[in-house]
Amino acid sequence: MISGNLASNKGTVTYNGLTLTQCLKMESSTSIKFTAPSAGKLTLVFGESGKNVKINGKKNASDSNCIVTVDVAAGSVEITKGDTMNLFYMIYTPSGTSETTHTHKYESKITKQATCTETGVLTYTCTSTTGTCDKKTYTETIPATGHKFSTEWTVDVEATETTPGSKSHHCTVCDAKTDVTVIPATGTVEKPLTITASKTEADKTVTFTAKAAGGKEGYTYKFIVYNKTTGTWGLVQNYSSKNTCTWTKGSAGDRYFYVDVKDAAGNVVRSEALNVKIDAATPKVTLTGSSETVNAGAKLTLTAQTTLGSGCTYKFIIFNPSTNQWFKLQDFSSSNTFTWTAGSDGTRLFYVDVKDADGNVTRSKVVNVTIGGEGALSVKTTVSVKTSKPGDKITFTAVGTGGKAGYTYKMVVYNKTTKTWGLVQNFSTNNKITWTAGSAGDREFYIDVKDADGKVVRSSVMNVKTSN
Ligand SMILES: [Zn+2]
Ligand SMILES: [Zn+2]
Repeated sequence: MISGNLASNKGTVTYNGLTLTQCLKMESSTSIKFTAPSAGKLTLVFGESGKNVKINGKKNASDSNCIVTVDVAAGSVEITKGDTMNLFYMIYTPSGTSETTHTHKYESKITKQATCTETGVLTYTCTSTTGTCDKKTYTETIPATGHKFSTEWTVDVEATETTPGSKSHHCTVCDAKTDVTVIPATGTVEKPLTITASKTEADKTVTFTAKAAGGKEGYTYKFIVYNKTTGTWGLVQNYSSKNTCTWTKGSAGDRYFYVDVKDAAGNVVRSEALNVKIDAATPKVTLTGSSETVNAGAKLTLTAQTTLGSGCTYKFIIFNPSTNQWFKLQDFSSSNTFTWTAGSDGTRLFYVDVKDADGNVTRSKVVNVTIGGEGALSVKTTVSVKTSKPGDKITFTAVGTGGKAGYTYKMVVYNKTTKTWGLVQNFSTNNKITWTAGSAGDREFYIDVKDADGKVVRSSVMNVKTSN
């Protein structure tokens, strides 16, 4: 028989797998009476620990689990208030029965690991062996962990010259990929423009052959020559798709041939030098004058020499370019010298013809002689500046004197840095020549003056240094 007040606002107690929310308030008026059929065990579950309840008038304190367990004898049992407590549950177990209370004791174990993308399972199993278990196992879901992507790129497919590759961020756990990105094809790697040149010498000709490689295909070739003997550059063949060039051997000299190749992108590369030496053949006939300049009325001695053997005869000839007239000074004779008395001012050209014993005639090279030092053709030049920056305009002035009036002027430039010659102005009456400074370099300028007779005299050098 139970008398007392119930309450459901005193909290929750879990016992033996049961969740208990309703309780009996242990008040002064509260009384629980029953008759135990035999001696046994009485278990009371409270909401409080360390509080007393009276059983048959005797105080019993609740343990730390808020449980009071007492042995009772057969007969009347009365439960009354000790301290103020709330009784949630009560059970009487007669002694001699094997039945005991069961308190769940769960142990958890991961029965399926969670992965990046799939949930796992945590299984709880009750290990308590007393009493009867009404919930042996239950499970909980372990959330998927999600991918852990590396910040480093992994190259999945290497790009080649022609095919693109790909890269991505890999999951450090499961190797899944994200941010898949195309790696462009590398394309063909352009090799630098190169040129090789070779020569084949024949009796009277030399054939040059060039072969270009690398750069951007579509080559043109230019063949140039530097005559080390005369210190001059010449063009043998201008840019063309022809990679061979045949040069007819000229006068004696030590020449260096170069081939410039230009590719489709405009890059230019020069070949190694190909050396061609032509030895001076001993001339069969030579003529020398006693002086290069003489004053009017003075004597000039002309001397002829020959390797044509004995029995030669000599004929001396003079040409006056001012009058365009030839004149025989001495007809064929055994005398190999001739003394000439200088006439009017100007230039004279002398030759000697040598006839050998068989009657074959060989002419010498010309000997130039200027008559009248004062009246000889010359050119005076001035230059506005000696140093410049690229883009500056520089003025060269030339004034011809002597010779036959009616002058024209030609200006050439030699770039000492690139060792190339260039034409600034061809023969023209303009004697104020403006040149716009090009790239940095040391340059030498010369002005040639030509008079009405066609005689040409070169000025002394004018140096202009261009720097950035
Ligand atoms: Zn259990
Ligand atoms: Zn992953």
